[in-house]
Amino acid sequence: METSNPHAVIVSSPGVGHLVCDLELGHRLVSDHNLHVTFFVVVESNSSAGESELVQSARTRKLLDIIELPPVDISSQVEPNAPIFTRLTTVMREIRPTLSSAISDLKLSPTALIVDIFGTPALDVADEFHMLKYVFVTSAWPLALILYAPILDKEVEGEYVVQKQPLRLPGCMPVRPEDVVDPLLNRTKHEYSVFLQVGLEMRQSDGLLVNTWEDLDTPTLKAMREEEGYGSVPVYAVGPLVRPVGPPSSRSELLDWLDEQPVESVIYISFGSAGVLSAQQITELASGLELSQQRFIWVLRPPSKDKACNDVLAYLPDGFLGRTHDLGLVVTKWAPQSEILGHGSVGGFLSHCGWNSALESILNGVPMIAWPLYAEQKMNATKLAEELGVAVRPKIAPTKGIVGREEIEMMVRKVMAEQEGKAMRDRVMELKNSGEKAWNEGGSSFNALAQLVKQCELNSERQRVKAP
Ligand code: UDP
Repeated sequence: METSNPHAVIVSSPGVGHLVCDLELGHRLVSDHNLHVTFFVVVESNSSAGESELVQSARTRKLLDIIELPPVDISSQVEPNAPIFTRLTTVMREIRPTLSSAISDLKLSPTALIVDIFGTPALDVADEFHMLKYVFVTSAWPLALILYAPILDKEVEGEYVVQKQPLRLPGCMPVRPEDVVDPLLNRTKHEYSVFLQVGLEMRQSDGLLVNTWEDLDTPTLKAMREEEGYGSVPVYAVGPLVRPVGPPSSRSELLDWLDEQPVESVIYISFGSAGVLSAQQITELASGLELSQQRFIWVLRPPSKDKACNDVLAYLPDGFLGRTHDLGLVVTKWAPQSEILGHGSVGGFLSHCGWNSALESILNGVPMIAWPLYAEQKMNATKLAEELGVAVRPKIAPTKGIVGREEIEMMVRKVMAEQEGKAMRDRVMELKNSGEKAWNEGGSSFNALAQLVKQCELNSERQRVKAP
C-alpha cells in the first residue's frame, strides 16, 4: 500500500437512518476539509429502495469512493426477526474479515476508521492498520445514555421502565422511564447486554462524533467531556449534517403540486424509513386530517402485520381520497423528503422523530408534531417538544394506545393555523440559524471537523514513520 494525504474510511451499517448522515459526514470531510474518503456500504440481502436511492445520488456527487461490501450471512447466529441492535452489531462483527481485506486492497492507506453506532464491533480492524477509530452517533442525548448505561446498570435496581423516578444522566434532562431506548426495555434480554457492550466499545475509540452542534446540546456535550462516568472520550459535535436537496433534474410531481399551494399551508406526514402504524391508527390519522381541513402530503406505509400488502390505500377510510382530493396527496413510495421539507408551501411536519428527520425539519424552519415510535425516538420527541419547544406531542404515547382523531385534528390545527404554531416556527427559525452558523466556515462544527482532520494528519505522519 502506498501512503499519501490523509484518507479516512467510513463504514456505514445497513439501514437508511445512518446511511443518510454517514454519507453527509463523508461529503463534508471531502468538500470542506480536503480529506480523501472511501465509503464502505454494508448491505443486507434485502436492502431497501431508500438505501439504493441514497447510494445512487451520492455516486452522482462524485466526492466519495463508494464501495459496497457483499452481504454477510448471519442466519446461523441470530433469528431473522432479532432486534435491531443484535442483528446489526452481528452483521458488523461478521463483516470484519471482508472489511480488513477491502482496506488492505486500497491504493492509499487510510489513517482513520469511522463507524456508526452499530459498527463498534468492527473498530478493532483499525488496529491492524494503525488507524485512528471513531464512532459517529446521531444525537447527543441517546449518546449520553449509551455511554452512561454501564453506570446505570450498576446503580439502578429492577427494570428501568418501572422506576418511579426518572433516570438521571449528567448534563441531560431527566429521562422518563417510559422514554428509554428499546434495548433498555427488558434487562433480561440479550439486546440489553449488546447495548451495554456497544457503550463499552465506544469508550475504546479515539473520539465520538455526534450529529448536533455546540449551541443545541451545550450541557450534554460539556458533561460528556467532563464527567468521568462518560468514559473520558473526546466528543466532537459535527452537525447538523443533513442531506441537501437533489438537483432540479430529479424534481418530482409532488413538488409541482406543492408549487400550487399557499405558503406554509401543507403538513408533511412521514414515519421515516421503517415506521408503521396499525390499521386502526391509520383510520384515526386520516379522519383527524380530514377534520382539520389542512392541506397535507402523507407518506403512507402498510401496517407491519401486512408486509406483503399490495394495496396500502385500502387501509384508508372509504371515500377519504375523494373527499380530500383538493386538500392533499397520499404517497406510497419513497418520498423526496429533503425537497418536500425545503419547499416554501410546507408549514408543519408530523414526524416519528428519527434524528435525521428532526434535523431536516429544523434546518428548513418547520415545526413538528412529535409522534415517536421506537428506538431513541421518544427521547428525541421529548427534547423537541419539552426542551426546544419546536413540537407538540400527543397526550398518549403512540406506542401505548391509539391517538384519536380529535386530538390529531387539534394538533394539526395548532401547528398549522394557530398562534402556538407561529411561536414554534419562530423558535425553529432560531435553531435553523444557529445550526447553519455552526457548520459554516469558522463555526463550531466546522472547527470540530477541522480538529478531527488534524488528528488524521498527525496519524498519517506516524504511519509513515512506522512504514517499512
Ligand atoms: N426519507 C426519505 N423519504 C422517505 C422516508 C425517509 O427521504 O419516504 C429519509 C428522510 O429524509 C431521512 C431518512 O430517510 O433523511 C430517515 O432517517 P430518520 O433518522 O429520520 O429515521 P429512520 O428512518 O432512521 O427511522
